[in-house]
Amino acid sequence: MNQLALLLQAKGDAVVGGWRDQQNRRERRAEQGEEVEALLEAIDFGEVLLEGNGKQEGEEHLHAGQGHAQLLQQLAEVAIEAFALALVASRRAFLHPFTIGNVKTAVVLFNRDLRIHDNPALAAAAKAERTVPLFVLDESLLGSRFAAPNRVAFMLEALRDLDESLRKAGARLYLRRGDPVKEAVAVARECGAEELHAGADWSSYAARREERLRRACAEQRIGFRVHPGTTIVAPGAVTPSAGDHFKVFSPFHRAWEEVPARPQARGPRRLAVPSRLAAGRLPALDALLRGEPSPRRAPGGESEGRKRMRAFLRDGLSGYADHHDDLPGDRTSSLSPYLRFGCVSPLELLGEARSRRGGAAFARQLCWRDFHHQVLAANPSLPSRDYRPRGDRWSRSRRAFEAWREGRTGYPIVDAAMRQLQLEGRMHNRARMIVASFLTKDLYIDWRWGARHFWDLLTDGEIANNAGNWQWVAGTGNDTRPNRVFNPVRQAHRFDPEGTYVRRYLPELESIEGKAVHEPWRLDGASRRQLDYPEPIVDHDQAAATFLARRT
Ligand SMILES: Cc1cc2nc3c(=O)[nH]c(=O)nc-3n(C[C@H](O)[C@H](O)[C@H](O)COP(=O)(O)OP(=O)(O)OC[C@H]3O[C@@H](n4cnc5c(N)ncnc54)[C@H](O)[C@@H]3O)c2cc1C
Repeated sequence: MNQLALLLQAKGDAVVGGWRDQQNRRERRAEQGEEVEALLEAIDFGEVLLEGNGKQEGEEHLHAGQGHAQLLQQLAEVAIEAFALALVASRRAFLHPFTIGNVKTAVVLFNRDLRIHDNPALAAAAKAERTVPLFVLDESLLGSRFAAPNRVAFMLEALRDLDESLRKAGARLYLRRGDPVKEAVAVARECGAEELHAGADWSSYAARREERLRRACAEQRIGFRVHPGTTIVAPGAVTPSAGDHFKVFSPFHRAWEEVPARPQARGPRRLAVPSRLAAGRLPALDALLRGEPSPRRAPGGESEGRKRMRAFLRDGLSGYADHHDDLPGDRTSSLSPYLRFGCVSPLELLGEARSRRGGAAFARQLCWRDFHHQVLAANPSLPSRDYRPRGDRWSRSRRAFEAWREGRTGYPIVDAAMRQLQLEGRMHNRARMIVASFLTKDLYIDWRWGARHFWDLLTDGEIANNAGNWQWVAGTGNDTRPNRVFNPVRQAHRFDPEGTYVRRYLPELESIEGKAVHEPWRLDGASRRQLDYPEPIVDHDQAAATFLARRT
């Protein structure tokens, strides 16, 4: 029994993951009989057979039924067959030989999963006698555009918070700086770790890092395992009948809704760390980069993320479907930076939302996040190349681009949104669509310029979502109506009917009352001249007509 349990514990992720990837898990379970199904349910991704309720539940199933030997035999066959399936099915499955038996030391390399709740990589590493929670400040990312002050500041706060949570469990966060592959393997060697665990990620950079880690671990004979947790449904887990990813959202959404939820990973109660391993220190922001974060950016960390999640579920979710586009009300969750750095588990958030009134509309947004991740996983060049080229010969007007960047286009709704971005490191989704449409369609400027500016400022700046959404709005991506042009004035009247949002971010227009603030060019001459505010940079109707002529 114990041997089988250990085998399953070690291989559980791949077993169930493999079935999922094949989309035939339920059918296979039916074939193998009810008892096996019940026992596998208790195994919960191979995480619980030896501990807590899962152990009890599993043993109860074993002891209650008849023919234990036969059941165990069946179970072993299922496990081995499914394991083989998993290897074939998932190119990302961990492929290094596993440690069977007690693992003495395991390293968990955090990446964009800065949490202890529902963190499968941490939960797996926590099964070892000693666990080394590790984060490596990646020099090459710090020297790149990734290192936007808003995101790095958020990340440092999230790391501090993670360290505090780990300390409460008897451990701490170990920090290194340099190349994550070299540093992680060096730490693993130093403390004699047999396993290294990490969360899956889907950019081309992350895929290369994962491959390098896999190779380096294989050379050092360290077991390497990649775990789910960044998305709700892993890219590639559902695919259309023809093709490796869904190109259109609605069929993806339907397939996504059918995928059974991965059981949540339990947070570690107690962790033991090796006795002589240098901890490393978390640097201050100004030691890492120049530049100031936005004055009103969101503070980072799992504790803050969970507080906000609870508040939103309690007060915001029920009105989400009706009010999520309300610009002045700002009634969305604001959880995107916490999801981006994994301070909040998207799976846990989905589970909580689905169990409450109003959850469906919110779940759909979380599905959009997974949608863009599966597009990125299948198209690593998404941030740089048109997904669907439209033959655009974009304008290279620096003057128009600067006006857009600074919030001086003369269209108050566009300018207010761009100022919100500077001030808060965030922007409402409806406003993002309006400004992105204005840049790419009214000004006919390359979406990559806009995405880069967002990337410099957004605390939630995230490769799949930023590139996917920019391409969606520019009509080079997954929008089924690629040539739609948002009318900024109509959008303003609809989603900011009293002009409250505009006045909040454009102090130069705060003297204009009500909805008149959306069209300052209609004010009488004297009132207009008093304003320090530019004339519209383009005529929207003309710009939209020119754009459509270019595209058709
Ligand atoms: C041009 C453009 C660029 C964008 N860039 C990013 C980005 O870099 N990072 C980012 O996280 N989101 C991006 N989005 C998507 C969306 O605007 C933000 O996720 C959302 O505004 C975050 O606010 P919230 O957490 O209150 O969202 P809520 O409305 O509360 O939604 C909950 C969660 O669902 C996800 N979500 C919501 N809308 C979308 C969407 N359209 N696409 C993908 N996921 C979504 C987010 O994770 C969000 O936190 C972009 C949208 C556009 C139009």
